[in-house]
Amino acid sequence: MLFDLNQLSEAPRTAYDVCVVGAGAAGIVLALKLAGRGKKVALCEAGGMEFTAESQECYNGEVIGDPYFDLDITRLRYFGGSTNHWGGWSRPFEPIDFDRGYLGDQYVWPISLDELTKYLKEASSIIDTDDAYDDVLVNDTHGVIRFEIKTPEPVRFGKKYQAELENSADVDVFLNANLTDIAGTGSRVTSATFASYQDRAFEISANTFVFAMGGIENSRQLLWLREKHGTQFMDNDLPIGRYWMEHPHFTLGEALVSNPISTGQFFALTGARQRELNTLNCGLRVEEQSGGATKRLVKDLMCVAPTVGRWAMELAGRNLICGARFRAAWEQAPTFDNRVGLSATKKDRFGVPQSELHWTISEVDRNTARTASDVFNQWLLDDDLGRIRLDEWVYGEGEFPTHDEIAGHHHMGGTRMSASKRYGVVDANCKVFGSDNLYVAGSSVFVTGGHNNPTLPLLQLTLRLADHLS
Ligand SMILES: Cc1cc2nc3c(=O)[nH]c(=O)nc-3n(C[C@H](O)[C@H](O)[C@H](O)COP(=O)(O)OP(=O)(O)OC[C@H]3O[C@@H](n4cnc5c(N)ncnc54)[C@H](O)[C@@H]3O)c2cc1C
Repeated sequence: MLFDLNQLSEAPRTAYDVCVVGAGAAGIVLALKLAGRGKKVALCEAGGMEFTAESQECYNGEVIGDPYFDLDITRLRYFGGSTNHWGGWSRPFEPIDFDRGYLGDQYVWPISLDELTKYLKEASSIIDTDDAYDDVLVNDTHGVIRFEIKTPEPVRFGKKYQAELENSADVDVFLNANLTDIAGTGSRVTSATFASYQDRAFEISANTFVFAMGGIENSRQLLWLREKHGTQFMDNDLPIGRYWMEHPHFTLGEALVSNPISTGQFFALTGARQRELNTLNCGLRVEEQSGGATKRLVKDLMCVAPTVGRWAMELAGRNLICGARFRAAWEQAPTFDNRVGLSATKKDRFGVPQSELHWTISEVDRNTARTASDVFNQWLLDDDLGRIRLDEWVYGEGEFPTHDEIAGHHHMGGTRMSASKRYGVVDANCKVFGSDNLYVAGSSVFVTGGHNNPTLPLLQLTLRLADHLS
């Protein structure tokens, strides 16, 4: 059933097994999965079926630190969430992403990657792709792999699952339902309050509550509830909002690559090589440049390195080399200071403080891109496959460029999972530490981010949570 709180004077008084807050990728999949197991589910979504300014402006907030997207631009606040404009690119975590404990306790996942791999096939089918990845070790000495990213037509979760949700006897979808508060006994949440845009409040009772409001809102709402209720529903001093991560996306320089490296391919270092070099995960890509880029780069090379320049010119004459932009999307180190916080002065229309995103790309992050590029370049040099020229900022000579892609709109961490309350907000089952029945779904529970797009792995974790709650 589908209800629009803007049109109701009273919510139907059903008691639910589970109340899922947020109908994006995680919330929709979780609600349907639980309904399939006979649970009565309330799926409460802040927006309507389409974009509205009144909902979207609740995402306003401030970015402090390095340049980042405006917080009301980097996500969408209506049924289907940010999948209404995501790119659909997907790839699961890699073994090394779950094996970073050698870098410190803040890198330790409380579960193994196998716990996610069990759900890879099902999660892949949700986003209309398969689970086979054509990764190839292209150079053993340097530890370089060529990897595959799936780029199917992006699934719009709202559109794909709307009819199924409407027809489900076990899911009630509440649109225009903005979470404003929770109530309960002891550390058990028994009800949540939702406000419509007509300023009416509705209460939903359930045995279990799951926050699936996205990679910034999950932190924001928990921080706000802690301000209101202290430690009633969560342990003291949890690092809520902390260790927030993105995937920096930048052009690192230009490349001349010969035929075996065709443009559009993705490269990275093997896990073993990353470990050896004490660096994080970084995906590299060469993208063909149009126009006279090849000629210009060959000419430049002739000036600085005539021998190599002649090699390049000879290949260019036979159309066996091309000028490319050399790009990277990479893993950001989880650091305490990168965080979602609450504004001290600005609130949304429901009285919830706006988000303040503190985001800085550190020297460790810059070094990740530089190290991967250096290894890749060395491989090209050794095998006479091409040459890379990195921009000066990559070597620390200046700021990150502000006119580039900057990041992937991948909001990770903030309510991360951990075996320890020091480094985590939720436990290995995604339950908030100190709560009886409050859970979190989405990439905010990620401990590390790898370099791959987050939606496929967050779906794997959501399917795992559905099993747990069943
Ligand atoms: C431009 C762009 C491109 C992207 N491309 C890719 C890509 O190619 N590959 C990839 O893997 N990822 C991509 N992403 C990221 C991807 O969209 C997210 O990983 C995914 O949508 C997260 O799903 P979610 O369910 O956790 O959160 P969301 O999709 O953000 O859903 C959260 C839901 O909660 C609702 N909500 C928020 N606050 C409240 C509240 N107070 N009360 C009730 N409901 C609330 C929202 O309205 C929303 O519907 C992209 C994102 C953007 C913006």
